[in-house]
Amino acid sequence: MMWQKSCSRCQGDLFDAEDRFGRYIACAQCGHELPPAEEQAVLAQASRAAATTPQAKRRLVTAGR
Ligand SMILES: [Zn+2]
Repeated sequence: MMWQKSCSRCQGDLFDAEDRFGRYIACAQCGHELPPAEEQAVLAQASRAAATTPQAKRRLVTAGR
């Protein structure tokens, strides 16, 4: 998952990754790691954007019947 131009420090691209400490979101350009509060905001934004996708998929499935 990537969030383009969402870094609060440099407006770079954020990506999510995982290490032994767990999941985190960091910036590809400056390496800034998001604090939990910012991470929540980015994830909430992403789930809001994804909310339209299941409906679109359902429409495709029912159209075939
Ligand atoms: Zn950055």
